[in-house]
Amino acid sequence: MKPARIGSKVALLRTALAGCLLGWICGAASLQCADRLAAIDLTAFSAMAPIDVHAHVFKDDPAFTAMLKRLNLRILDVCVVDKHDRGYEEAAPQNQKAREIMQSTGGRAAWCSTFDPQDFDKPGFASRSNKTLNDTFGEGAVAVKIYKNIGMELKKRDGSYLMPDDTVFNPIFANIAARNRTVLAHIAEPTSSWRPLDPSNPDYSYYKDNPDWFMYLHPDHPSKQTIIDARDRLLANNPRLRVIGCHLGSMEVDVQEIAEHFDRYPNFAVDTAARVIYLMMQPPEKVRAFLLRYQDRVIYGTDLDLMPWSDTPARLRHWQEEYLRDWKYFATDSWVEYEGKRYRGLNLPEPVLRKLYHENAVHWVPGIIGNE
Ligand SMILES: [Zn+2]
Repeated sequence: MKPARIGSKVALLRTALAGCLLGWICGAASLQCADRLAAIDLTAFSAMAPIDVHAHVFKDDPAFTAMLKRLNLRILDVCVVDKHDRGYEEAAPQNQKAREIMQSTGGRAAWCSTFDPQDFDKPGFASRSNKTLNDTFGEGAVAVKIYKNIGMELKKRDGSYLMPDDTVFNPIFANIAARNRTVLAHIAEPTSSWRPLDPSNPDYSYYKDNPDWFMYLHPDHPSKQTIIDARDRLLANNPRLRVIGCHLGSMEVDVQEIAEHFDRYPNFAVDTAARVIYLMMQPPEKVRAFLLRYQDRVIYGTDLDLMPWSDTPARLRHWQEEYLRDWKYFATDSWVEYEGKRYRGLNLPEPVLRKLYHENAVHWVPGIIGNE
């Protein structure tokens, strides 16, 4: 799903210390106090009725439901098939688990289902996929994820790469649009995937650990531009299909490129999942102007996960640290620390924050907060 970010050790240490101190003061367990501290700091965030439109939760843990309630938070729980990533190998178990979690959280974890495109060249692929998806829609799924294996991994019989605008997907996209669901499209990767490893890049450790997705090692694979062009043709060919480009639509290094796409494709929005750091790295006045101008097109998301083997309390502390850091960046003009560097907050106006954190998710993913 990722590239994943590494949590700031300093921030984690700070939470641990604050938890211990509060535990000592109020005489309760330090963990509960750390959670309470985060809840206090996240009061303004919670007041937005925030929606994280990109998370991966496959552990049905009451502590997670409790955190959603405490933070007045909703998420979109995204299923995705990645044969290289533990826990994501198959579509069906993820769809089943996400449905369970949607139910156990009382709908606070909405469900983005998926299908496996690997048998795209077998007869009946589109109708089989549509049956899978329609079953999930019938059970409450509000969106469908497509993934970077389309464009970067799956090959056709003639040796060319399967692209997101391939005609094999036409009946699937038509069906998703007809049923008023939204596509979450993680197509291509950060530009750093095609460049030599650079320890100063935010995605350095992901590509170091995931050579299959490090395109610099695979010069025979399509260029980033080739894949983005195919994604763009998908947008042009399916004007009635709402598409959210995950991870800033893989146009993470320059908001101007995203702006040009918004101007061209009215059916296109982006999420911020795992790419807020790339916004931080651009000039704050430029990013601020972009977010004001396109305030209806950018949706808050994180790519945070909770897996069956996760240490739930530690993981949920990390979630709250990340929500707090992102909130500071978008909502205040204070300095925000990320991986030892400091970035100036954007201090966005309240109505724009409300769109980023809530309204745009409701608009672009109908049903995400239920059927009202
Ligand atoms: Zn993801």
